[in-house]
Amino acid sequence: MNLVIFGPPGAGKGTQSKFIVNKYNLYQLSTGDLLREEINNKTKLGLEISSIMNAGELVSDNIVGNLIEKFISNEKYKNKIIFDGYPRTLNQAVNLDNLLNKFNQKINLVLKLSVSLETVKKRILERQSQENRKDDNEQVAIKRYQTYEKSSKPVLEYYEKSKLLKVIKGEATITEINSEISGIIEAIKG
Ligand code: ADP
Repeated sequence: MNLVIFGPPGAGKGTQSKFIVNKYNLYQLSTGDLLREEINNKTKLGLEISSIMNAGELVSDNIVGNLIEKFISNEKYKNKIIFDGYPRTLNQAVNLDNLLNKFNQKINLVLKLSVSLETVKKRILERQSQENRKDDNEQVAIKRYQTYEKSSKPVLEYYEKSKLLKVIKGEATITEINSEISGIIEAIKG
């Protein structure tokens, strides 16, 4: 089973991905984590993308497309991937389907975590004190939320059409969301 976890910054995608990974033996592919790794390692790509990420904007579809292809083409992860933070644009969603198709795979489920801008701001300020991310301050958080609002609609419509989309209220407690997600996954696994 491959699944996508979707939602604004601070929706809890990373937290829920880790829970699903442990419970169902999957692998988390977080494009945000992969991009931050490039920045921390000061690679050529890292230098190129740091100002874009710190401004709360999206890096190019090409760059993230290359990162996920490495994962999808690896037999070890076949049909065991949680896409966390990818796709973020319609173009990325189409690219993901094409890539998966090339390696005889598909998306089985798209989980959308919904949260308000107020919650996003609050959570990101809390996270700032723990993780020290350069893009976790109120101003950039608002910008990231706006970026999400702008680019997410066509992606959601795309997955609604293919009947893969399940929407979850991201304001519930972590354990409540854990069990809601488990219920959805169990139903799909049959
Ligand atoms: P969050 O969802 O909390 O904003 P992420 O770690 O998923 O955090 O993403 C952080 C930043 O990384 C984004 O604001 C964006 O600049 C970049 N990024 C991550 N994934 C993508 C993607 N699929 N396409 C373009 N940019 C991305």
